[in-house]
Amino acid sequence: MTKSEQIMELEHHYGAHNYHPLPVVLSKGEGAFVWDVEGKKYFDFLSAYSAVNQGHCHPKIINALIEQAKTMTLTSRAFYNDCLGPYEKFVTEYFGFDKVLPMNTGAEADETALKLIRKWAYTKKGVAENEAKIIVCNDNFHGRTISIVSMSTDPDAYNGFGPFTPGFIKIPYNDIPALEKALEDPTVAGFLVEPIQGEAGVYVPAEGYLKKAYDLCKAKNVLFVADEVQTGIARTGKLLACDHEGVKPDVLILGKALSGGVIPVSAVLANDDIMLCIKPGEHGSTFGGNPLAAKVAVAALEVVKEEKLAERAEYLGNIFREEIRKIDSEMIELVRGKGLLNAIIIKPKNGKEAWDVCLKMAENGLLAKPTHGHIIRFAPPLVITEEQLKEAVEIIKKSILSF
Ligand code: PLP
Repeated sequence: MTKSEQIMELEHHYGAHNYHPLPVVLSKGEGAFVWDVEGKKYFDFLSAYSAVNQGHCHPKIINALIEQAKTMTLTSRAFYNDCLGPYEKFVTEYFGFDKVLPMNTGAEADETALKLIRKWAYTKKGVAENEAKIIVCNDNFHGRTISIVSMSTDPDAYNGFGPFTPGFIKIPYNDIPALEKALEDPTVAGFLVEPIQGEAGVYVPAEGYLKKAYDLCKAKNVLFVADEVQTGIARTGKLLACDHEGVKPDVLILGKALSGGVIPVSAVLANDDIMLCIKPGEHGSTFGGNPLAAKVAVAALEVVKEEKLAERAEYLGNIFREEIRKIDSEMIELVRGKGLLNAIIIKPKNGKEAWDVCLKMAENGLLAKPTHGHIIRFAPPLVITEEQLKEAVEIIKKSILSF
């Protein structure tokens, strides 16, 4: 057995079978590249589901981590620590909100937002106790907790995990009339939406959808809540995907690249009238707002501005889609995306599907993962150079044309 095979066997034997990874075992990452345990080098075109926007092991972020780790890592929120306040000032000014509530994972930040919406409904909007509803979209992905899978329309996500949390209204994504109709219910408190549905297969809504949705929410005194865990922090060519339409959400949910993929750091941002609805003791997390997270997040966000990652994503994304569209293969049914969050829809050929294309690309030195069987997402670290991107496109082309 190769070293990779031995390690995969360990995971298979001792780990829960809740993932189906591509058969590569990675041990090192730098910038846009990762290496497997046999020393083979790959372009990383997943970026840990858009967590590693700043590139693997970015020196500035790693340095912030190491320096803080030598001093103090965790105090809990039972006490103040000297990193959290400065981070809160930094992150709220960076995104333009009054307040931030720090958490760790994306799912936790989404759960936090759900609680915040409900609390606001009862304390500010005047919805009767236990009656608040939240509108969500079909094919959404917000994480894996019970309440979050209660919002899901994907049987893999919810089957066998009931009973479910009530209070969600599911409507089709990118459907303004459906939203308008759902908003007629006066107990609706919030509309939770991904500006681009990442896990659904990089589904980009029609231009103007977010703005229209925002305006409709405003007219009904409903909170517009953007889950930018995957789309945020420069991935789509703007700092936030909502920025493409000049929409400022009432509640903003961030995760993943908030730490550059270094440690789990997530956040919910909102203004005082919303955020202060949650009082001491009503929400929290042992690790949320820890000193390491605070220092790492400041460094990660500084890198985004210093290295103009949003501008890079915008520029390189246009090149990527243009180059991929030039590939002459009937297996490519559609290319879509924004910035460096892109996907191609694969039409199977001779029994070969998206999974086979991903295996072939891995063999040729590029890692990407299929989603929903027939879609391949392409989301490299935003620090990738134009030259590297073109090299990667050649690998994708060669792999697809080999079928
Ligand atoms: N929200 C969105 C839009 C996501 O894409 C994801 C993860 O892919 C999550 C939430 C959940 O984040 P986490 O896996 O950190 O809990």
